[in-house]
Amino acid sequence: MDPREKLLKDLQIGCGKARPVKAPKGSQLHCKGWYQEAALRMLCNNLDPDNGENPDALIVYGGLGKAARNWDCFDAIVRTLLDLENDETLLVQSGKPVGVLKTHTSAPRVLIANANIVPHWANWDYFHELDKKGLIMYGQMTAGSWIYIGTQGILQGTYETFAALGQKHYGADLTGKIVVTAGLGGMGGAQPLSVTMANGVALCIEIDPSRIAKRLEKRYLDVAAGDLDQAIAMARQAADQRRPLSIGLCANVGDILPAMMDKKFIPDVITDQTSAHDELNGYFPRGISFEDALKLRKSDPDTYKEMALNSMAEHVRAILAMKDKGAVAFDYGNNLRAQAMKKGVDNAMDYPGFVPAYIRELFCRGEGPFRWAALSGDPEDIKVTDEALIQLFPKKTKMINWLKMAEEKIEHMGLPSRICWLGYGEREKAGKLFNDLVREGKVKAPIVIGRDHLDCGSVASPFRETEAMKDGSDAVADWALLNCMTNVASGATWVSFHDGGGVGIGYALHAGQVTVADGTDEAENRVTTVLRNDPGTGIIRHADAGYETAIDVANDKGVKLPMINMYGAHSGNV
Ligand code: NAD
Repeated sequence: MDPREKLLKDLQIGCGKARPVKAPKGSQLHCKGWYQEAALRMLCNNLDPDNGENPDALIVYGGLGKAARNWDCFDAIVRTLLDLENDETLLVQSGKPVGVLKTHTSAPRVLIANANIVPHWANWDYFHELDKKGLIMYGQMTAGSWIYIGTQGILQGTYETFAALGQKHYGADLTGKIVVTAGLGGMGGAQPLSVTMANGVALCIEIDPSRIAKRLEKRYLDVAAGDLDQAIAMARQAADQRRPLSIGLCANVGDILPAMMDKKFIPDVITDQTSAHDELNGYFPRGISFEDALKLRKSDPDTYKEMALNSMAEHVRAILAMKDKGAVAFDYGNNLRAQAMKKGVDNAMDYPGFVPAYIRELFCRGEGPFRWAALSGDPEDIKVTDEALIQLFPKKTKMINWLKMAEEKIEHMGLPSRICWLGYGEREKAGKLFNDLVREGKVKAPIVIGRDHLDCGSVASPFRETEAMKDGSDAVADWALLNCMTNVASGATWVSFHDGGGVGIGYALHAGQVTVADGTDEAENRVTTVLRNDPGTGIIRHADAGYETAIDVANDKGVKLPMINMYGAHSGNV
């Protein structure tokens, strides 16, 4: 059978209902070029049941984060990508394919805009109105931009955060320390493994038993406890023995934190990754069972939202109380503090977000979540890329340790993939290396290179990536737009721009890019240009805000910064 026809059949295109989707694998093309093929495979990969959290509803992760607006739109995107010419560009508006334009061969093959609402109206209520009318879709970050790679995608960043926390507060790793957190969803599920990788003990509260089961099965979580007393006993014993352990506890975090305080149990570290950014579809209020909450969401959303926000206020009060008793508290990028402020917790910001606390210095060096996937579907290809990277950067011992640990501990979900934080200059070299591996036939099919939208230059998010910027420019979103336009101009294969993401509608604007290394000279040019300029905007953004490290990196590595006055008083170097 013709491969195109076979694919349409395999993906049950036109069946009009939800179905399990698996990305095509191997070196056989179904589209008219690898760029379109890559977009098609990565869209399918986001919805792979091993990968996405609720693929029947097209939800990939992070509350409502979707890959396509509905199944008809999914079908239409697949059909359009199959027919898309090498000089055409598909436009996707909030998960719906809306047009194909004649552009040119070096242009992106897909341009995506998700959940963008004119700022005055950019809030959840208005979003839900538009959603009901079928006019919009929540794209989260990598869900609607087709570069989600399962929980691994956030694993290294989460590990880096806990490792940096250990270094900053204990002068070492997390040996003998207990971290309490909640949420074992798509992203939060990375927490237990990250804490144990940093040698600590994680006690993770999750209300949905299926999420605990999934993390146990995928070996992100070690054990489940039957109740709070057992969980505390297990955590204390492991910490006393200086043994890494992750424990899941099926409960509502809103009930558990006050119960911990009653039992005089104060963890060393307290944080949270429930989907607090979305009070309707992401966070479960206390005082109601999981099943009843799911029903109430549908039958009386207003009451649900009120209950959820009130619970979040109590949740943050408990975190603040634990902090007062000596716990290290930090916000893990889910907007929990701002939600609690809506219900009168005026001092919610008394504990910091994770970016200013642990990540900003990395952003100043252009470091961020570089990730790639093997379109062949063969895990051997990822091994080849891991080994090649180790040879390319033999002095990066932290990276080498990470890649070895990842190889050993991480089960691939969907298409085999890898994440690895790389800095300015390094990403470009890694991109060329991967393109060479494809060119030389060392891997079996092209490699897709992308990143999270949580990166150094791509996002404006005052309660997360741009919290507490040195010059007060936290809410200036020009930077995210400049990053998006830079990626289009540099020849990324697909580029996206979203509102919302990890902190919810109205709180963040951010851009994504994905670029395909298919072994050709053209791909080498695109990959190196994108991977130089994309983190380059991060250096520029942080240099402009006055961060010395970013200015030094710009000067060392030749990122041109125009001088603003004749005395060179600004950070400029040209
Ligand atoms: P998700 O929706 O897949 O998972 C959230 C989990 O929290 C679910 O399993 C849910 O059952 C659980 N939960 C909700 N309320 C609870 C409660 N009261 N008690 C116990 N469990 C509860 O979301 P995700 O992809 O894991 O992301 C989690 C949050 O982190 C989101 O707000 C997301 O935007 C944010 N996020 C942070 C980062 C980061 O780098 N820190 C990155 C991406 C996303």
